[in-house]
Amino acid sequence: MRYPKLRELKEAVKALIKGPYTSKFPFQPHKPFEGFRGKPQFFEKDCVGCTACVNVCPSGALSFEDRVENGKGSRLLTRRLDICIFCGQCQANCLTGEGIKLTQEFDLAILGKRDELAETIEKELVLCAGCLEIIAPADQIKWVAKKLGPLTFSNASLMLYYLAEKGLSYINSFLSKETSASRKDRIKLLCPKCRRLAVIKS
Ligand code: SF4
Ligand code: SF4
Repeated sequence: MRYPKLRELKEAVKALIKGPYTSKFPFQPHKPFEGFRGKPQFFEKDCVGCTACVNVCPSGALSFEDRVENGKGSRLLTRRLDICIFCGQCQANCLTGEGIKLTQEFDLAILGKRDELAETIEKELVLCAGCLEIIAPADQIKWVAKKLGPLTFSNASLMLYYLAEKGLSYINSFLSKETSASRKDRIKLLCPKCRRLAVIKS
C-alpha cells in the first residue's frame, strides 16, 4: 500500500477546514475571478464603427456589412457568440478602447438557434456627395476630429463635417448626375477621387 505524501495530506486537512474549492453553480450564482474573459459586448455609444476589432478577430466571430440605399449609408457590426473563442483581441485593439469589452458573463448556453447568440449594432455612414462612395462612419469622423483638435481644419472633408455638426455649415447637397464636379463642389464632402476631380476641374 502506498502512503499519501505529506503535501496531499496537508491539502486534505486544509479542505476539511475551508470547505470545497469548487463553486455550487448552477445551484448558486458563481462570481468569476477578476480579469475573467467572458461574453464580449458592444458598447454602442463608445463604438465608432471603425472595424478594427473585426480585422483582429481570429475566429471570425465579428463581421460587418455596409449598406447604401437611397443616398443613405449604414454599417452593421455583428458579434456571434457561437464562434467566439473569448481571446480578448477585440477589446485589446478597439480604437476607442471602450467600444467592445469582455464581460464576466459565462453562462451562455441556449436551447434555441445559434443566430440568437448574435448581437448587431448599426452605425451611420458618411457618403461622398459626388459618387456616393463610403467615406467613413459619422462617429469615427467625429472621434478623429476631436483627437486632432485644430488640425481638423487641414482636411477639407473632415472640416466640413465638423462644421456641419456644430451647425456652422451645411453639407451633402449631392452633385447632379448631369454636371461633373466644378470649383464650387470643392466645398462638399467628397471622397479622395471626387475631390481630385473637383480640384483638377477648378
Ligand atoms: S473575444 Fe476574440 S474571438 Fe471573441 S469576438 Fe473578440 S476577438 Fe473575436
Ligand atoms: S470602435 Fe472598437 S468596437 Fe467599434 S468597430 Fe472600432 S474597434 Fe470595433
